[in-house]
Amino acid sequence: MRSATLAHPLSAALDQIHTEAQALFGQGQVADYIPALAQVQPRQFGMALALTDGSTFTVGDAHTAFSIQSISKLFTFVLALKVVGDAVWKRVGREPSGAAFNSMVQLESEHGIPRNPFINAGALVITDMLTTRYAHLDYALLGALRRLTDDPTLSWNVQVAKSERETAHRNMALAYFMKSYGNFVNPPELVLDNYCRQCAIEMSCAQLAQASMFLANAGRDLNRHGQADEQMLLPDEARRVNALLLTCGAYDAAGDFAYRIGLPVKTGVGGGIVAIAPGMGTVAVWAPELDAKGNSVLGAFALERLVQLTGWHYASR
Ligand code: GLN
Repeated sequence: MRSATLAHPLSAALDQIHTEAQALFGQGQVADYIPALAQVQPRQFGMALALTDGSTFTVGDAHTAFSIQSISKLFTFVLALKVVGDAVWKRVGREPSGAAFNSMVQLESEHGIPRNPFINAGALVITDMLTTRYAHLDYALLGALRRLTDDPTLSWNVQVAKSERETAHRNMALAYFMKSYGNFVNPPELVLDNYCRQCAIEMSCAQLAQASMFLANAGRDLNRHGQADEQMLLPDEARRVNALLLTCGAYDAAGDFAYRIGLPVKTGVGGGIVAIAPGMGTVAVWAPELDAKGNSVLGAFALERLVQLTGWHYASR
């Protein structure tokens, strides 16, 4: 007798979200302030789920590599926490900014100390710290991401890095402004080179879900066979990074994301979003059309539907 194969409930949820999300195409716009990103075909959607038991689920363009942009801020911050430790808090805060990701307004009244590591000013300070620490920061970061994804070919897109570097006037201004307050050590030009390369790293949803697994798994990475691998962070450090992602991971939409989705997230103007469900797993979603705050329209919708369909919540474990 033949029995019908039932789809896993999470596969069924991803299929349903994929179908529903199509209706939102056209509601946002691809980032165009970085000229190379304006070339991306807008109507793409991918989603990947990785569970702490090693199982994975994907739908749509989940294996297409895209520009991770500000999602790199999550990985550079983790690297800084590992090599600089709590001293990072002397140079960057940990409060939501309530302002655009590339805003300068708070920097003057707050004496060149950015609000948090996930806005551009904060990430530039973090990259400055790492530039002091590593002679070849690109390769330190790529090395970590290659280990986390088990993909030795993972790299940045040279054209995107060049295109952002040529138009990085505002980020350069942020760096010089912080330097005027004594909160920048290296030449801004050098730090901007590193920053633009890290933003131009390309990864797929499947890779991002795998690479961020340590945040769902008490600081420990899982290899692609689902076995325990590198201890990236102590459990207590992973808990704290997740708290920062929940409060600061979506710029001035962090409150809205917490309300709608309720999970720690990091977004990027490439249209990617990584979400962490501590103790359960990670989700990465990608759709290049952005809302006015620079977050993926379909990506936020997909995460909201996922938590509704699964009951996943930051406080559920
Ligand atoms: N590279 C982009 C910038 O610095 C990253 C911004 C983002 O993804 N929000 O403007």
